[in-house]
Amino acid sequence: MIQDKALVVFSGGQDSTTCLFWAIERFAQVEVVTFDYGQRHRFEIECAKEIANEMGINHHILDMSLLNQLTSNALTREEIKIEENSDGLPSTFVPGRNLLFLSFAGVLASQIGAKHIVTGVCETDFSGYPDCRDIFIKSLNVTLNLSMDCTFVIHTPLMWINKAQTWELADQLGVLDFVREKTLTCYNGIMADGCGECPACKLRKKGLEDYINAKSEFYEKNS
Ligand SMILES: [Zn+2]
Repeated sequence: MIQDKALVVFSGGQDSTTCLFWAIERFAQVEVVTFDYGQRHRFEIECAKEIANEMGINHHILDMSLLNQLTSNALTREEIKIEENSDGLPSTFVPGRNLLFLSFAGVLASQIGAKHIVTGVCETDFSGYPDCRDIFIKSLNVTLNLSMDCTFVIHTPLMWINKAQTWELADQLGVLDFVREKTLTCYNGIMADGCGECPACKLRKKGLEDYINAKSEFYEKNS
């Protein structure tokens, strides 16, 4: 157990909830931050609140609604469909979103005395977000430290693993069912296994199936 405080960037989805449990296992103190940017589904923030509440964790919710002034995108505007744009990026893409979120997380971390920042960004299921890449996170870590004269450490436990391995991590942490039942990843705002049709549900479902299949094959071989 590391005797420091960690701040987890937390949306109430599968990835960040898994990161939250990862952090709880490692750090003496954990707090979470959720960014409210007028998500299409307000329920997402309610999910995050409920999980933080249930875990007895201090939950910071930052108003990032100004993001809507910068861009129109499918996560916040009902009338825009989630699909792949002509540039290959999903229509959910807000340029620099992660840069903004992590910078605000850094400022908050300095305010609450957290040395560690944990984020569920991932380069493996990379859907075209440049500010989810490992090289960007490393660069931002240096920038945050220089800007605030701090020694933050940004942790990205999911950076190099796929969705099946994210489920495996949740299972190892003893929270697979918790993550499966209490998180919201679905673009249509349906908790747990979701609508089953949107890209987020498909990715989540395939990962879970792959993991369960791999696990049962392993047990068959070893029984
Ligand atoms: Zn869905």
